[in-house]
Amino acid sequence: MEKKYYVGIDLGGTFIKGGIVDNGGNILVEDKTPTESEKGDVGVAKNIAALTEKLLLASGVDKGSVVGVGMGVPGMIDSKAGVVIYSNNLRWKDFAIGETVSSLTGLPVKIANDANVAALGEAKFGAAKGKENVVMLTLGTGVGGGVVAEGRLVEGNKSAGAELGHSVIVAGGEQCTCGRKGCLEAYASATALIRDTKRAMEANKDSKMWEIGGIEAVTGKTAFDYQNSDPYAKAVVENYVEKLACGITNFANIFRPETVLLGGGVCGQGDGLVKPLQALLDKELFAGELGPQVEIKIAQLGNLAGLLGAAALFM
Ligand SMILES: [Zn+2]
Repeated sequence: MEKKYYVGIDLGGTFIKGGIVDNGGNILVEDKTPTESEKGDVGVAKNIAALTEKLLLASGVDKGSVVGVGMGVPGMIDSKAGVVIYSNNLRWKDFAIGETVSSLTGLPVKIANDANVAALGEAKFGAAKGKENVVMLTLGTGVGGGVVAEGRLVEGNKSAGAELGHSVIVAGGEQCTCGRKGCLEAYASATALIRDTKRAMEANKDSKMWEIGGIEAVTGKTAFDYQNSDPYAKAVVENYVEKLACGITNFANIFRPETVLLGGGVCGQGDGLVKPLQALLDKELFAGELGPQVEIKIAQLGNLAGLLGAAALFM
């Protein structure tokens, strides 16, 4: 296989992380530099260009053999146009970052939303390596989503789609941050898990979970830690798993991926989370055993998913 090289950039509010990646998904060198968003959009673009030059120098890769610079950017991104429509983190509006970085580096540039890019990274080089159809859910403060279908990101018009966390699983249910009620995010985020754990404790003063000290000590782990010794904790975990499985089954029926990947802090539960989810999915998946099966796995690239997925925008 002929070696090709790519620059992968993971643009965050605090740091710009970058690396030189080959077509096998090997990271030759990686480095980071402060974003310095206070310098404004063009200032940040200059920092990206400077990091790119530094990475090329460190790797010894000739610029002529680089296919392009791929970037994962937080916010609403029009990836076809290479424009950041809006980014809360960076306080940008309608910035043509693709064109700007391209003219500074002399290299072609592709951009996409950071959650989508992470899904692509996992599909190409991580826990779903070699799989053509992958759905990724990140269970954090919210529920982020990314969809890879036939090896390509599914982003929708102006890349504003794939908001998997904001599909309703309980009509008229819990209030979501987006304004709707009953979104998956309002049940399956770490925030929702903490809310439900606190509610269970407040409603049950005899819950063993009070051993942690007080309501303010609750984390996304609390209910899982006590599920075998406290029926109230067990009920919280069961409800969490049931709601998340409902969302996963919906996406499995829509996209029929080979793999559903889970990322984010709640995934620290490992098999304790995956096994009950898989059992519910297997039971409810459309056409059951007659159709292709869908495997639930924990994402494995962590911080590197963004960098590798960004490079993969050119693959
Ligand atoms: Zn929502």
